[in-house]
Amino acid sequence: QLSLRLKKVAEYLPSQANFADIGSDHAYLPSYVCLHDRYAKAVAGEVNHGPYQSALQEVAAHQLDDRIDVRLGDGLHVLKDNEVEQVVIAGMGGPLVRNILESGKDKLSSVSKIIVQPNIDARSIRRWFYENHYQLVHEAILEENGHIYEILVAEKGDPHQAYHQGNFEKQLWLGPWLMKERSPVFMKKWQVERSKKERILHQISCSKQPDEEKIQSFQKELVWLEEVLE
Ligand code: SAM
Repeated sequence: QLSLRLKKVAEYLPSQANFADIGSDHAYLPSYVCLHDRYAKAVAGEVNHGPYQSALQEVAAHQLDDRIDVRLGDGLHVLKDNEVEQVVIAGMGGPLVRNILESGKDKLSSVSKIIVQPNIDARSIRRWFYENHYQLVHEAILEENGHIYEILVAEKGDPHQAYHQGNFEKQLWLGPWLMKERSPVFMKKWQVERSKKERILHQISCSKQPDEEKIQSFQKELVWLEEVLE
């Protein structure tokens, strides 16, 4: 049974998808997609031998070898030029996802849609999309087994479209679509973050040599959280 998190990621792929799943681990996502759509095909990329072997086994178990190509290698470098139309990168930290996109930029010319699920720091990927002419078209947030996950979907296009007038940095941090929707899971995530930030701010302020810059940055973010949570 595929996780809710990866099912939600799969929802953003079009039918007959031709995609890469980078950091595929067991290749659960491409297997699920190809089992449900006989015209879908995928490249499952893995940089580590263990997960690469697991992916090969999973794909063979479903007899999907003709539609899922499992490849060992770093990030988008496993792809040939113009090979896929969608890219999925899920279950890693935002900065790593961002680095994979940045260092594999030349492989993205045929890619019209990028779906990412960063475990932390979605902001760094929103910023990368913004700077690289990808328009953030959807955002989702969900909770599964006590973890809260964000999913970002971007398509080639005008990156300004997603952001409304007002505080750009705040929208990059919290997510322009998520902020608009203010779902219960979103509110929960940021209530927890606010408590954490208040605690850390208190600790920094009470230290012998308080870091003024850090204090100001925390205070600024706490104001943004007050605004969104009120
Ligand atoms: N994508 C799956 C998911 O969301 O459940 C697996 C996530 S797993 C936590 C992260 C996987 O990414 C690991 O299997 C790891 O080996 C792989 N990985 C990390 N850095 C990578 C890179 N630069 N290129 C390809 N795979 C990478």
